[in-house]
Amino acid sequence: MSTSSVTSATDLHNAFPETALAYINQAAIAHNLQSLRHTLNSAGQRSTPSIWAVVKADAYGHSVMHVLPGLHNADGIAVLSLPEAYGLRSLGWHKPILVMNAQFSTADLRDPKLFPLHLVIDNERQILELEGLRQADRPFVWLRYSGILHHAGFDNQDYGPVCGRLQKLVRANVLAGLGHMQHYAQAEDAEQLHAERKVFEGLFAGLPGPRCTENSAALLSDPGYAAGADWVRSGIALYGISPMHDSIGSSLGLMPAMTLQAPIHRVQKLPAGQLLGYGATFQASHDMRIGLVGCGYADGYPRSISEDCPVLINGRKSRILGRVSMDTITVDLDDHPTAGPGTMVTLWGADGLPIEVIARSAGTIPAQLCAGVTGRVPRLAICAPGGARRP
Ligand SMILES: *Cc1c(COP(=O)(O)O)cnc(C)c1O
Repeated sequence: MSTSSVTSATDLHNAFPETALAYINQAAIAHNLQSLRHTLNSAGQRSTPSIWAVVKADAYGHSVMHVLPGLHNADGIAVLSLPEAYGLRSLGWHKPILVMNAQFSTADLRDPKLFPLHLVIDNERQILELEGLRQADRPFVWLRYSGILHHAGFDNQDYGPVCGRLQKLVRANVLAGLGHMQHYAQAEDAEQLHAERKVFEGLFAGLPGPRCTENSAALLSDPGYAAGADWVRSGIALYGISPMHDSIGSSLGLMPAMTLQAPIHRVQKLPAGQLLGYGATFQASHDMRIGLVGCGYADGYPRSISEDCPVLINGRKSRILGRVSMDTITVDLDDHPTAGPGTMVTLWGADGLPIEVIARSAGTIPAQLCAGVTGRVPRLAICAPGGARRP
């Protein structure tokens, strides 16, 4: 295979596309970052938090390389691992990087290329390595509280003593500073979020250092509180996707960054009474015209969608018929007489078919869909200010 995921948009657009394509709108990313900043600014605090743009899982499936130009106004970028941090440096990112799940040795932290470097500290092994650092290295560290998520971090009992050890390293000038962090388990639920914040506040009362607790859901559901933080960490909202179960990104002023499209490669008649697809789950009630679309669950389109899941053809709604298979989706062309081989079908994204709708139909969350678009789908960068009607 000679094509890579960075083939230029025009090359592929001019050729007859045979596969699914994911357009990544860099202007939408920039807009969403700006919108989050505006939300925090208008929440009326004296100083507003700095924003970590979270790009783990290759920018939630959007590709770090493509989203980076839209993130130039971010204060820092958050990733999971040191190799991802090196990737950002080689793409020219000079501002701070937060590594949220770093496995490192003392020696790993001696490379000046990595700095300014922030590390989330959530286990004893990391602290032992930090204790071996010299004054020249000086990462900033964020001590993680386990909270009720319990994926990583220190509990109520251990947090204080560990904090004491790290403060010693700050005083010895081995660390650039120490902050406090947690990641909510139930940020979408106002009552639970309030409870999680209260526990955190109790634990950190009196401890010096900045705080970093808010993710997209917490930030958007209660900007007034989030605006009082020192740093926030946002992922999903930057991609234009609502972190709440009951809304879509555009209702929060966000623009979807990913549009997934695939071409119709064949049109067929389906006579009345005939069955269609694996499991023969669809039966034509009348003579129908159907289109076979080159996208399936091997591209990351969910097989679990419910009946009549929508797609867009030339900007108008149609629906999926029968089961999604590995490489093929079948769509209803009854009301789309001009659609034929080569017509692009929008499966989710900017054309007015929110990924949130497809996720709901599939019984999952939008993040699983965008992060689940597989490697065989080329990501094509576009820059369409004001939102692409057609990418
Ligand atoms: C993924 C992640 C985030 C970003 O969360 P969103 O809900 O996508 O904004 C923030 N913090 C941590 C620790 C994460 O793992």
